[in-house]
Amino acid sequence: MSAKILEGNALAAKVASGVHAAVMSRVNGGKSRPCLAVVLIGENPASQIYVRNKRRTTETAGIQSFSFDLPATTAEHELLALVDELNANPQVNGILVQLPLPRHINADRILEKISPLKDVDGFHPYNVGRLSLKMPLLRPCTPQGCMHLLNETQVDLAGKHAVVIGQSNIVGRPMAFELLMSRCTVTVCHSATRDLPGLVRQADIVVAAVGKPEFVRGDWLKQGAIVVDVGINRTATGRLCGDVDFASARERAEWITPVPGGVGPMTIAMLLVNTLKACELQDAPQLQPSALGAYMPV
Ligand code: NAD
Repeated sequence: MSAKILEGNALAAKVASGVHAAVMSRVNGGKSRPCLAVVLIGENPASQIYVRNKRRTTETAGIQSFSFDLPATTAEHELLALVDELNANPQVNGILVQLPLPRHINADRILEKISPLKDVDGFHPYNVGRLSLKMPLLRPCTPQGCMHLLNETQVDLAGKHAVVIGQSNIVGRPMAFELLMSRCTVTVCHSATRDLPGLVRQADIVVAAVGKPEFVRGDWLKQGAIVVDVGINRTATGRLCGDVDFASARERAEWITPVPGGVGPMTIAMLLVNTLKACELQDAPQLQPSALGAYMPV
């Protein structure tokens, strides 16, 4: 059996065109154009590529983009002050601070400073907490993108056993909450997990977010599993690959996401969705959860 491919590029283009249509209808109706502020600190080449793609895709969808490219020597208090300024700027609907940050800046402190209503990455403890309580507001982009890909299979997720490999704050953990919300039975694996292949063998759905090239092998998979590969890695020869060994996995899986062209483009598509949603929330205070009052800029 050769697995069906879950095409992230095609789905992301569909999502982006939906966002573009919604933005145009806002603008034609006399409302503001959504606006995203993207902050990049330093010159990490991978971050520069991610940020360039995010800015380009954002503008293609009709969303305005403000760029803040600051030197690696930027002090934490300077970045906190910029976030404060962006929180208070009514023209800015979404704030994205590209990770990783230089070591002298505490990323948690920066992420917590972003207003939860402008937190388009969905990393603020408020938004992660809401997701964990089945009350999502702005959802972390990568897991949200994975859920869209899973929906494309039209498989009823309720009762399926999902094994998530990786427990990071930006992928593994929120992914587990997303799958729980879809009524999966979820096992979260990490570096201290025993017998990973044995657990993966039980999975109807495998989400790999480990950061190790071609780590998950096809012979670990149950026949007919759905495989979502979040990993973006380079092999020793410079080839881009995922956390799953695609060639062997596609012989066992029913559905599989490719790398590149799977989860990556969906992550950016969800950034568009979140920016539009953030803009709509800021337009309509009656839609905002009441507890957010304390976080709103004065
Ligand atoms: P991370 O390094 O923060 O987390 C990796 C996780 O893997 C950890 O929880 C760790 O416990 C677990 N792990 C490590 N070794 C393991 C082992 N032997 N067995 C089981 N678990 C093990 O990474 P991250 O930020 O979650 O990213 C994971 C991968 O996803 C990376 O390749 C990253 O580049 C990629 N990524 C892709 C996107 C996208 O848009 N496609 C977005 C974010 C991250």
